[in-house]
Amino acid sequence: MEDCLFCKIIAGKIPSTKVYEDDYVYAFNDIDPQAPLHVVIVPKIHIKSAAEITAENSVYVAKIFEAVAKIAAQEGLEKGFRVVNNCGEDGGQTVGHLHYHLLAKRFLAWPPG
Ligand code: 5GP
Ligand code: ZN
Repeated sequence: MEDCLFCKIIAGKIPSTKVYEDDYVYAFNDIDPQAPLHVVIVPKIHIKSAAEITAENSVYVAKIFEAVAKIAAQEGLEKGFRVVNNCGEDGGQTVGHLHYHLLAKRFLAWPPG
């Protein structure tokens, strides 16, 4: 999608620091990290939010969670990590392209804000 920040990052039009990539998924370091490791994981097709996941596109979500496990192994996250999706206005979503935050390398309090 032309005006989408994360579509531009996937296309390499906006630079990012790649953490992982395959045919379905691109993962990169968040520009404003909320933990010592903060990776943003996105599908390589434009899906607006978690509210738009369907039987037709949910393979991308499965691939994102496969990527989570691979990144956890790659980055040595034996102590654990958190995966977060912000959806819509009340969920705090600021970029309208489905993405999951992988946060790690510090203790993460619960409940979140
Ligand atoms: P949201 O608030 O929608 O759940 O998450 C969007 C995330 O994208 C935020 O954590 C924000 O820091 C990150 N972000 C926004 N713009 C850029 C950018 O240009 N590059 C990178 N690497 N991350 C970005
Ligand atoms: Zn997009």
